[in-house]
Amino acid sequence: MIRYALTIKGIVQGVGFRPYLYRLAKSLSIGGYVCNTSEGVYAEIEGEEAACDSFIDELKHHPPSLAQIKSIEVERRPLRGERDFSIAGSSGGERNTLISPDVGICSACAAEIADPQNRRYRYAFTNCTDCGPRFTIICDIPYDRRNTTMSGFMLCPECRREYEDPLDRRFHAQPTACPVCGPQLYFSKAGVEQEGDPFALFDQCIHEGGIVAVKGLGGFHLACDARNEAAVTRLREKKVRHDKPFAVMMRDLDAVRRYCELEAAEEAALLCARKPIVLLRKKKNSRIAQAVAPRNNRLGVMLPYTPLHCLIMEQHELLVMTSANRSDRPMIYDDAKGASCLCELADAVLGHNRRIFRRVDDSVCMVMAGKARMFRRGRGYAPEPLPLKGNSGVILALGGQQKNTFCLAKGENAFLSGHIGDLDELETEKFYEAEIESYLRLFDARPEAIACDLHPDYVSTRYAGRFKDRLPVYEIQHHHAHFASVLAEQGLQGKAIGLIFDGTGFGKNGILWGGEALWGNLAQAERIGHLLEAPLLGGEAAIREPWRMALAMLAMACGEAEALDYFERFGFGNQANLLLRAGERGLNSPLTSGAGRLFDAVAALAGIRTHASYEGQAAIELEQALDEAAEGCYGFDIRLEGNIMIFDWRQLIRDVVHDLRKGCRSGQIAAKFHRAVVQLLIDVAVLARKRYGSRRVVLSGGVFQNAYLLSRGIARLEKGGFAVYANEKVPMNDGGISYGQAAVAARLIG
Ligand code: ZN
Ligand code: ZN
Ligand code: FE
Repeated sequence: MIRYALTIKGIVQGVGFRPYLYRLAKSLSIGGYVCNTSEGVYAEIEGEEAACDSFIDELKHHPPSLAQIKSIEVERRPLRGERDFSIAGSSGGERNTLISPDVGICSACAAEIADPQNRRYRYAFTNCTDCGPRFTIICDIPYDRRNTTMSGFMLCPECRREYEDPLDRRFHAQPTACPVCGPQLYFSKAGVEQEGDPFALFDQCIHEGGIVAVKGLGGFHLACDARNEAAVTRLREKKVRHDKPFAVMMRDLDAVRRYCELEAAEEAALLCARKPIVLLRKKKNSRIAQAVAPRNNRLGVMLPYTPLHCLIMEQHELLVMTSANRSDRPMIYDDAKGASCLCELADAVLGHNRRIFRRVDDSVCMVMAGKARMFRRGRGYAPEPLPLKGNSGVILALGGQQKNTFCLAKGENAFLSGHIGDLDELETEKFYEAEIESYLRLFDARPEAIACDLHPDYVSTRYAGRFKDRLPVYEIQHHHAHFASVLAEQGLQGKAIGLIFDGTGFGKNGILWGGEALWGNLAQAERIGHLLEAPLLGGEAAIREPWRMALAMLAMACGEAEALDYFERFGFGNQANLLLRAGERGLNSPLTSGAGRLFDAVAALAGIRTHASYEGQAAIELEQALDEAAEGCYGFDIRLEGNIMIFDWRQLIRDVVHDLRKGCRSGQIAAKFHRAVVQLLIDVAVLARKRYGSRRVVLSGGVFQNAYLLSRGIARLEKGGFAVYANEKVPMNDGGISYGQAAVAARLIG
């Protein structure tokens, strides 16, 4: 006989860990006990040595599906002669425990709601320890029903029995419910609840081309028939959203295959319990309304992730499911506060009386170079910690301005917030501040250092100012933060070459950077190369109007006369002249080396897009126009200014114009341009390797959300003998900035 003490850390609470150990112990005739502690789970087991060894073996290799074990410590203990195994109450404050993200419906619960004999048949709030709402309903810790928005629902005797039975799937499932005791659905129009079956009313409204607001896990969606052009167009008008694609929910994989191409990694991403939106390639001639994703050959697809979704999708193969908000405002999640807005946006509401405590947006990912890479990290992921090796302090990193997230690092756990949004909106700023407060409380953290961007005007940087008189504030250059986000995520020590391509970020010299080659590590990075700078004519407006970038670059490459002549033909002559005059005098024309701006310029020149209605639109359409069969490649001239490599695109722009004159199609121009950028990555990496002797290349920045660029870039660099690293779990766009900031600050504090 032998007795062991086991200390298990990681996501081990609220995921059915104790009942799992209980069942395991019973099956091996092992005695002892298990309890939750402030750090995870603690168990003592006593029995025959072989049995105890298989217990530990099983625990290591087949833990509960939602658990994420970080470490298991095993120590010998003196025998106590314990034969029975029990689940003890919690010990201690539970302040260091990890909080589980929301989890998509499990197969056992899905089977129950489809079974007419089951007491949860067609019950929209069915869940168990393996699935259901978590983070969106947790008001405070410890994670107990009384601290969730389920606190007002008293368990009925039957649910109570399940909740207290260690052998039941719902043992200590905090949000458990049934039709007798749990939340109820309603269907309302203009704020008035309608008589009848909510599902039937929903179907009718959708079939009539209506828009229904559906209350999900982290907020409301707007649903309509994805094959009804008029309905989708009306939804666009209501949302005031021009071209930015809408996400679609599809009933099952069969449905997905009818509309989209699907490779194995994409299928896995769709099916996983986190249920993100996956950006898939649309099949040609699909019957989906054009207005769902105009001029876009990708489609954001998710599978049903709550019982409510499963039930509404029974009658619909696919539905548009886009967040309920106007333009880019935060998604509505509060019934009462959002009521009037929902009435304006939708014809009806399919809601319920389980309160959403916090807004959490759907997560978005895309498979590139064989791996699912997060574009937006929210539901299903937040607030699961990311690793931050070697950190021992508490750091609050405030992120950027666009696609903001913040990151609370506490020791080796970095809690990256869900997607907050663009901080230009006051409403978003309020949500940002409230969410920071909430994280500090949930993780019982008192920051010892603050990290923020260098940009003085970011809302997040101004927020950092509040701490200046009492805490060290580290201002971290935007592209160093992108670079560090990869180093930290991939656990890279030492130095690397960084190729960081994004839209714009504040540089150390007051210029807007964005097409950067860096050499460094977490602690510091020097700028060793960058794209030739061009003026952002009219400032930020040039980002929304790619033709302005084309004008600026054309003027630099071919001279003003030719540039003006070119835009005369598009009817932009007068405005072009004014912009160039202002630019000459340096009026509202900051210089930028942003790679995204070069993509904008080429897209505008190639006739693909002169004005963008959402961020990255011109670059996305340029990539999608790319004709792989077309031959040729443009080139960059790399020259040295002092020690700095300048990636000069002027000849490239002249070649684009030359091709246009010859009548080249935009698909060929896009192909030749993308090949040039891939070649630039290789050339810069080779030059940097010669100088620094490193084979390690880090790719980050929003421009790499271009599947062609990332996959070709990685393949070609690897072929050239480089070890290439890019973001996976952390967004490579500005949603990953805060995590990078935290990683840099952690190193600077030492
Ligand atoms: Zn379940
Ligand atoms: Zn019940
Ligand atoms: Fe950026």
